[in-house]
Amino acid sequence: MVAAQLVDGFGRIARDLRVSVTDRCNLRCSYCMPAQGLDWLPSPDLLTEDEIVRLIRVAVGLGIREVRFTGGEPLLRRGLVEIVRQVASLEPRPKTSLTTNGVGLARLAPALRAAGLERVNVSLDTVDPERFARLTRRARLDDVIAGLAAAADAGLTPVKVNALLMRGLNDDEAPALLRWCLQRGYELRFIEQMPLDAQHGWDRRTMVSGEEILARLRAEFDLTPEPGRGSAPAQTWVVDGGPGRVGVIASVTSPFCGACDRLRLTADGQLRNCLFARVESDLRGPLRCGADDAELAERMRAAVRAKKAGHGIDDPTFLQPDRPMSAIGG
Ligand code: SAM
Repeated sequence: MVAAQLVDGFGRIARDLRVSVTDRCNLRCSYCMPAQGLDWLPSPDLLTEDEIVRLIRVAVGLGIREVRFTGGEPLLRRGLVEIVRQVASLEPRPKTSLTTNGVGLARLAPALRAAGLERVNVSLDTVDPERFARLTRRARLDDVIAGLAAAADAGLTPVKVNALLMRGLNDDEAPALLRWCLQRGYELRFIEQMPLDAQHGWDRRTMVSGEEILARLRAEFDLTPEPGRGSAPAQTWVVDGGPGRVGVIASVTSPFCGACDRLRLTADGQLRNCLFARVESDLRGPLRCGADDAELAERMRAAVRAKKAGHGIDDPTFLQPDRPMSAIGG
């Protein structure tokens, strides 16, 4: 039913909803948050579990086919397993996945799998314990490694690892990270750093680009490009003839906005049609004032209709969004 879909002015159809279930995090990655953390959203502002499930249900009715839980750190959200259970029982059943830093995953992976979660993406920028502690300001590498293993054991596969390289911190580690992931059967994806940090310290000149990452990998691996990226953010390569693969998400140097099918719901119920949007659509207010599903659906459709052609990072007028990545939902 075309009229029920979430279509923007350029004909793109939103099918992938990223849902932030909390803005809190238990790590303090230097490229994301200051050491002291941020001013967390007050609890009454957060969507309740029922509210999250209801908005997802309405979105699924509008053609959303994939729901990714994120944050902040989503494993910190009490009730996450129940949210997953309810979303996995929606009709039609959306694909479900979770983006997590992996701390706490060893404990929660079996319950999340049993609730219907299909996959995880675990963020891991280094496998060196000292670097990990410096980068995240927490000595939790062992927990992340245990979380990854537990996810694979629980069948949350393919387990994907997201890595961000920072110049002078871990930019020499691309081949080692890839080897580490290949040995364990995890799919590694490198992400270019975007202007979404809380401190507004992003600098394009020091950003480690996708091309640079590929050059570093090619020094040690044979990479064959895979065709057919579709709406996926990552361009992927087969490594040394397979079966291992590696991906690069070059949002800055090679934007894929033309094929973007994503929509984001923040933990306080604001719908964002782009990571870099400077305008949000409030769903929590109407929801709490008694809006019915039809009104919520119309607000979602209007938010998608207003989506811009591209993220505009290269425009001279580009302004970083007020919210950092951790408060939008990465
Ligand atoms: N806490 C979860 C995690 O660590 O995966 C989910 C939220 S975190 C904000 C999601 C992803 O965003 C992580 O992989 C993180 O590395 C990435 N990220 C944070 N700031 C970023 C930035 N400025 N540019 C690109 N990726 C960023």
